[in-house]
Amino acid sequence: MIENSSIENLKTRLDIVDVVGNYLELKKNGANFKAICPFHSDSNPSLVISPSKQIYHCFSCGAGGDSIKFVMEYEKLNYPETIEKLATMYNFSLSYTDNDKAQVDRKLMDNLTLFFRKNLDYKKSAKEYLLQRGIGESTIEKFELGYAPSSDETLNFLRGHGYSMSELKDFGVADISEKGNRAYCRFNERIMFPIRSRTGKFVGFGGRTITNHPAKYINSPQTRYFNKSKLLYGYYFAKDSIFKNKKIIITEGYLDTIMLHQAGFTNAVATLGTALTNDHLPLITKMEPEVVLAYDGDDAGIAAALKASTLLSKHSFKGGVILFGEGMDPADMVKNGQIEKLNKLFNETQPFVEFAIERIVKKYDLSDALQKQKALQEGTAYLQSLPETLQESYKGVLSGALNLPQNLVKTRRNATMRNTQEAFVDILELTIIKTILHSPTLIDTILDNIDISMFKSHNEEFKLLLNNELEDPRLVRIGLWDDIKTYDEVNLISAMITFLIRFYSEKLQNIKRDKNLSYKEKQFYIRSIQEKIFKLKKGELVAFE
Ligand code: ZN
Repeated sequence: MIENSSIENLKTRLDIVDVVGNYLELKKNGANFKAICPFHSDSNPSLVISPSKQIYHCFSCGAGGDSIKFVMEYEKLNYPETIEKLATMYNFSLSYTDNDKAQVDRKLMDNLTLFFRKNLDYKKSAKEYLLQRGIGESTIEKFELGYAPSSDETLNFLRGHGYSMSELKDFGVADISEKGNRAYCRFNERIMFPIRSRTGKFVGFGGRTITNHPAKYINSPQTRYFNKSKLLYGYYFAKDSIFKNKKIIITEGYLDTIMLHQAGFTNAVATLGTALTNDHLPLITKMEPEVVLAYDGDDAGIAAALKASTLLSKHSFKGGVILFGEGMDPADMVKNGQIEKLNKLFNETQPFVEFAIERIVKKYDLSDALQKQKALQEGTAYLQSLPETLQESYKGVLSGALNLPQNLVKTRRNATMRNTQEAFVDILELTIIKTILHSPTLIDTILDNIDISMFKSHNEEFKLLLNNELEDPRLVRIGLWDDIKTYDEVNLISAMITFLIRFYSEKLQNIKRDKNLSYKEKQFYIRSIQEKIFKLKKGELVAFE
């Protein structure tokens, strides 16, 4: 562990302006600084950085905290990882303690894994179960599969090693019964799957019954060492392969993962009886892999795949879904020697966005107008949660699935969709529209520099204007709107410059976050946009290209 005093020392070296400035472009604003907020789809700089308070705060999404919190959130790291990252950034050497308690605990889990492992050799029916599922000896060895005998036998073993009840409780190994009079081990007559942390420490177990206990699988409970929703089973063995192949296969089960490894798919992992969540993403984000979701084709599997697809597409992950039917899951297919077929399936997944749209639409009866409307709403809300480029590319898929004209699918940026009516109003866009309504000859000044796609909140109205549909009530309303000014040519140009700076700054942020671009592409786009912003700031217009 990192020594506390060392963390405190590091903290005194951190300056919020400097830390945030490493990631974002800051603008001086009185005593504070402002920036485009990276935690929501921001168009105006909503993030305020206060040097006197040493904090940041977003007035739009509410994100906020100190330097450490910023790096944690931005880089999606946990606390110690963040401290280490900051220490590297500021060339600060941390001191570590070798925490005694952590040492004891680790030994406990190591001992217990070994104990279960030995018991597998004594329990014929357990070993036979594994062999009959097609699991080979070397796989049993690699994943250290074991067998938990009766609760009393395990407790005797642990007590014999001098572990106290509180230690056993700490690690979720044993507990006291509700009546408070009897200690019991959580795993009783089960095949044991030891679960390692990403660095390889044993942190928990999964157990499968072989005595027809109604709970087929159980996992260690949530403890301070074991957080199911941050761990992936098999990750420790898979990470090098994921990194090399730029691909990860995510399954729902221990056996699927083990059997896939046995068949050479060493980039397979499993969620631990939970959905794939945001908390899992830091494990894979940095390797930028294509993600294959290999899930069950039953209702629960489909629901889980939909949730995961939504999450992954929102974060611009490449990849897709493959659903397995009854008696044909990855473990069975490996056992039956269908390796080639599996390989083919993993290469022919249905892309996340397509899968999500198809499944959302399938939830509704499209012959009913009201249901169809709901399907449109849910589908649109999903599309709007995606990065802009994806929204545009998949608009047609949604309208096609619903058999509706494409213009009914409104893809707007998240920020402008924030529920309230006011959020749709963008004064700058409206001012430009109203000015042209008022002085139509100014349209030429506009069109050289502004493309219709740059209008985010009032794209429809701008389109109407270009099509000269001046009687349309939406345009009439803008024409009569007293709060919106009309400009002369000089003021129009300065409004356009403001508009363009905003557009390109936002584009810059999107490119910085885009996981689909290579480093070189990013550098190229970033430079060209920065050049544009530079010119605009000097008061020069830049042509749209
Ligand atoms: Zn924000």
